[in-house]
Amino acid sequence: MPAKVIDKLCTGCRSCERHCPTGAITVTAGVARVDAALCTECETCVESCMQGALTMVARADQRAAGSTEAGSTEAGNS
Ligand code: SF4
Ligand code: SF4
Repeated sequence: MPAKVIDKLCTGCRSCERHCPTGAITVTAGVARVDAALCTECETCVESCMQGALTMVARADQRAAGSTEAGSTEAGNS
């Protein structure tokens, strides 16, 4: 799963955009956007973001992001 931006935490500082080795991130209108087709899931951006606005999308996170699918056996991230 590609990196995901938590919009409300992103300050548009472009740190991730500069660090992404594949150019998958573009800051548009002050918010970073990840091109999932270019993302190699290297997690460099997650480490580069001082705001904690970047995360790797895991199944539990996808559910939190909008999917209402039930059946996850994981109560949360530890
Ligand atoms: S490094 Fe974090 S705060 Fe800065 S533009 Fe990227 S996601 Fe937003
Ligand atoms: S995980 Fe790596 S390739 Fe994907 S957006 Fe972040 S820095 Fe770029």
